[in-house]
Amino acid sequence: MTVWAVVPAAGSGQRMCRATPKQFLDVGGRPLLVWTLAALAVEPRIAGVMLALPAGAALPDLPLPGLPIQRCDGGATRQQSVLAALDALAARGLPESTTVLVHDAARPLLPAADLAALLDCPAECAILAAAMADTVKQDDGAGHVAATLPRERLWRALTPQRAPLGLLRRALAEAEAAGVGVTDEAQALERLGLPVRLVPGSALNFKITTPDDLRLADALLSVRESP
Ligand code: C5P
Repeated sequence: MTVWAVVPAAGSGQRMCRATPKQFLDVGGRPLLVWTLAALAVEPRIAGVMLALPAGAALPDLPLPGLPIQRCDGGATRQQSVLAALDALAARGLPESTTVLVHDAARPLLPAADLAALLDCPAECAILAAAMADTVKQDDGAGHVAATLPRERLWRALTPQRAPLGLLRRALAEAEAAGVGVTDEAQALERLGLPVRLVPGSALNFKITTPDDLRLADALLSVRESP
């Protein structure tokens, strides 16, 4: 099995309220992106990483000698950044059957065991996901509870999300052409009726979005050895 990782890292991190995009912020003494790539580098089945960066941004100095890293320009949305990275992989001549793992740059705490479990899963398309622990409310648009959603079958979609290169590229290109904004890869596959397997993963693999998330990740990573 040939596996390539795609890491969308072209966001501006507006919700973090910082001038530097969150993937380049210092967390636990290293740029966030370095921790994320190091979490992928431990998996020997990954042949390389296609990193989608803000247009024109140079590949930063990444102290990860064992992991070949290529760069491409990302787009205006996460969906467009992932599609650009898949196009770049296809342009390198990788076969359509290549297994692709799309992993957010903003998830530095991906456990090695979860990554291995996702690759061990026999399904073609699969995602890491965390079962919902809290009771989930829907609002009425005016600050009141409109409904309580039964949580038994609700999951939070994490990354990596896994699919064959050709299939995922088609699914994202079709969503883009239809003007449908998808917030993860599975959503693009789902709208084509393709089955996507849920692989239970650790809630520690959270996405750094707010200053609180950054503080939590900093506390968890500061006690780790440098990658
Ligand atoms: O904005 P959000 O937290 O959903 O972003 C998830 C991931 O997608 C981040 O790693 C971010 O850098 C990336 N992204 C991207 N291109 C964009 C927007 C987000 O690569 N235009």
